[in-house]
Amino acid sequence: MEIKRVKLFPNNNDKSLKLAKYLNNQLLEQGFILDDDNYVLAIAIGGDGSYLRMLKETEFNSNIYYIGINTGTLGFLQEIKPEEINTFLHKLKEGFYKIEQIGIQETTITTTKTEEYFYSLNEILIRDKNLKTTNLLVKIDDVILEKYTGDGLLIATSIGSTAYNLSLGGSIVYSDLHTLQITPVAPLNTRSYRNILNSIVIPESKIIDIIPGNNNKDLMIIVDGENNIYNNVEKISTSVSKKKIKCLRMNDYDYTKIINDKFLK
Ligand code: NAP
Ligand code: MN
Repeated sequence: MEIKRVKLFPNNNDKSLKLAKYLNNQLLEQGFILDDDNYVLAIAIGGDGSYLRMLKETEFNSNIYYIGINTGTLGFLQEIKPEEINTFLHKLKEGFYKIEQIGIQETTITTTKTEEYFYSLNEILIRDKNLKTTNLLVKIDDVILEKYTGDGLLIATSIGSTAYNLSLGGSIVYSDLHTLQITPVAPLNTRSYRNILNSIVIPESKIIDIIPGNNNKDLMIIVDGENNIYNNVEKISTSVSKKKIKCLRMNDYDYTKIINDKFLK
């Protein structure tokens, strides 16, 4: 797929808007076409939040390429630094890039009245609606894994493993593995409540079902950082989606380098 048509997704801060304007002009000068309706490359300009918003706005489109330019604080998902923008344009023009298929998460929430279906890039976090202790039955492919009691369960993708998951003590998973990781949030651990205290990494083919206990069917479900309340939840089913998104990477992109760069430098 030749990259000719581009759409920019800047956030609203001055630095991002200024950079978007510069990039816009440079792209035009180099023969690219800026087209908001018909494009093959989507470029987020901002922090990781902007990248997440771009994916939501484009409905996790598997027919286009995604990349980000970091004007935010961390920008783990945002490969290009502002000072690299000319190198980026050169590589884009010459085809010095590769495509990485990224696993995303698909979730269905069934309540007594509704069924809702959505994608996420980083994770979902399941908590009690009033942030009280929550009881959740966890099944993997219909087999009981545990009866969890604690603040909640976070279920993260590989690309999301370096976000909220990491702060909760979960592991970093290379993004070319398409997994989900169940990470407990403050699990109770007494004689009366036995929980798995560490993260569990689940392979792509399996379906994770979460069934809330009888006294806490009203849940807060946080999807890539956005809160939603669901009442009378019967079941949450989540898995790695068969649909993948395509991330554009520069030819020297290396996940090990990114981890070292973002967390240790
Ligand atoms: P935010 O409050 O700006 O995000 C919190 C931090 O997570 C930011 O530094 C953000 O980077 C970083 N981040 C987001 N996705 C990442 C990824 N895949 N790998 C490594 N770091 C990542 O909120 P936001 O920008 O809207 O992002 C929402 C995400 O924030 C959620 O999906 C969740 O993973 C994360 N979050 C983390 C915590 C925590 O660690 N305690 C709490 C709430 C939410 P930027 O600075 O570049 O935006
Ligand atoms: Mn942010």
